[in-house]
Amino acid sequence: MARSKKEAQNILEVAIVGAGVSGLGMGIQLLKAGETNFKIFDKGHDVGGTWRDNTYPGCGCDVKSSLYSYSFEPWAEWSNSYAKQGEIYKYLRHCATKYGVYPYIQFNTSITGSVFDEQAGLWNITTADGKTIQARNVVTAVGPFSAPKVAEFKGAEKFKGKTVHTAAWDHSVELEGKRVGLIGTGATAVQVGPAIADKVKNLVVFQRTANWIMPRPDRNIEEAEKALNRKTPLNMKMNRLGVYWFNELTAPFLILKYDMFKAQPEKMSSSYLARKVKDPELRKKLTPTFKFGCKRVLVSSDWYPTMQKEHVHLETNAIDCITEKGIRTADGVEHELDVIIYATGYEVRHTGSPIDAKGIGGASLNEKWKEGSEAYQGISTAGFPNLYFLVGPFTGPGHTSVIAYAEAQIGYVIQAIKLRQKRKLKAISVKPEVEKKFVDTMDFRSDHTVWKSGCASWYLSPNGRNNTLYPGLNAEYRMRVARFNPAEYVLTGPNGKIVKPTMTDHVSTGLMALKAA
Ligand code: NAP
Repeated sequence: MARSKKEAQNILEVAIVGAGVSGLGMGIQLLKAGETNFKIFDKGHDVGGTWRDNTYPGCGCDVKSSLYSYSFEPWAEWSNSYAKQGEIYKYLRHCATKYGVYPYIQFNTSITGSVFDEQAGLWNITTADGKTIQARNVVTAVGPFSAPKVAEFKGAEKFKGKTVHTAAWDHSVELEGKRVGLIGTGATAVQVGPAIADKVKNLVVFQRTANWIMPRPDRNIEEAEKALNRKTPLNMKMNRLGVYWFNELTAPFLILKYDMFKAQPEKMSSSYLARKVKDPELRKKLTPTFKFGCKRVLVSSDWYPTMQKEHVHLETNAIDCITEKGIRTADGVEHELDVIIYATGYEVRHTGSPIDAKGIGGASLNEKWKEGSEAYQGISTAGFPNLYFLVGPFTGPGHTSVIAYAEAQIGYVIQAIKLRQKRKLKAISVKPEVEKKFVDTMDFRSDHTVWKSGCASWYLSPNGRNNTLYPGLNAEYRMRVARFNPAEYVLTGPNGKIVKPTMTDHVSTGLMALKAA
């Protein structure tokens, strides 16, 4: 059916879901590529995603800022080599302003569903307030850390004090001089615990599993260095390169399961623990019982000192229940508390779709992914044309910055979008056999990773499969996605017939890849 000019004008070339690090990066790169017919939809009031929403005390990044920033926008203003949440949020707002992305963002808008119209080659996207948006391409950039995971404990509703989750921090909760319980000892807990310890009357940390910890080589960046960085961005680029390759070279120690890669880092982490914690009983409690890297290795120089403060108690008896007055542990002791902090992580999606999408023939993505989400390069899945995922299945960072994955994927998606425009294609859909081969490779490689060596973590789905992290080096992943290969996709032409990629399609994606390199 022919579309009126007005209808055609309202059709977006790209709808992006989420204005966090990857969605914002996508918007910036579209503008750089000359594409202005796009919109980013975000449920929040500003850019930043997890860095806008996570405001718990001590919140920061355990990847150095020189790498946890866009490669095209090094920033001279970081006050520390490891940035805190406030500065990362500020940096992302700076990028959105500098690259002119704000006018392209529609805030306070939740996307509820998306249906592909095969005849028109369009996604009909619905919002929570009942509106429909049409777009030729949809890019989901929703990230894994948006919904807090509230661990359920018997009697939780009886507690008369205050309860707060780190992922939805309530700044009205008073901690000064209070008796505080902290549940969890993961990446978040080791930031919040030290940040609040000196304020509270006493702190009880409820630990279920001790983690491997490495010291955090943080340092202040003095004004003189900032001035040098402002003048010579090359300095920042070299710094970034150094951090990137250090992470790449140490990746096998974090990723692979074999003992030859475990002995050295376990020795380093154990000797750090031995140097910092003299009390053998406390040291024993803090000693992990699983292989290095199976769960996320924590980076903290103040967790062990905090655990040794007089008014801090590390409780390793399991939580039995929550009472009116506090937390009762399995040994029958009731820890009386004024505030309970849940640092129990996020509901990370392993199955089902981040948006309710209906693809070719009305097939449901939720249904397709009910046993586990899978996508070719983590980016596209068969039967759902012109739909792309950023930091999708299998492409989370195990050892480096998530931005290194997102940027590589953005380049790939832009090549696909440009190809669609050039050939006026109705649909670009990955071939099922191509996707399967990739997924099989990911499963095979995951069997060699330490993530499946027997510990429980958010990396694994309930059936013990890794479809979260990339089981390899980022440099290798970047090579995989450097060029969008049209031959791996089914291309549907403007008349609804399948078309073959031409030599110029290959050349143009190749040239785009070269330009981005
Ligand atoms: P997490 O790694 O899932 O840790 C949750 C903690 O809560 C664990 O110690 C867990 O114990 C404990 N827990 C959960 N349920 C429990 C229960 N029922 N009873 C007792 N303890 C329970 O979550 P997270 O610390 O929020 O970190 C999640 C991810 O966010 C990180 O791996 C990281 O990727 C990201 N993050 C990154 C940064 C950064 O600096 N870039 C900072 C914070 C978070 P078990 O270990 O026994 O399960």
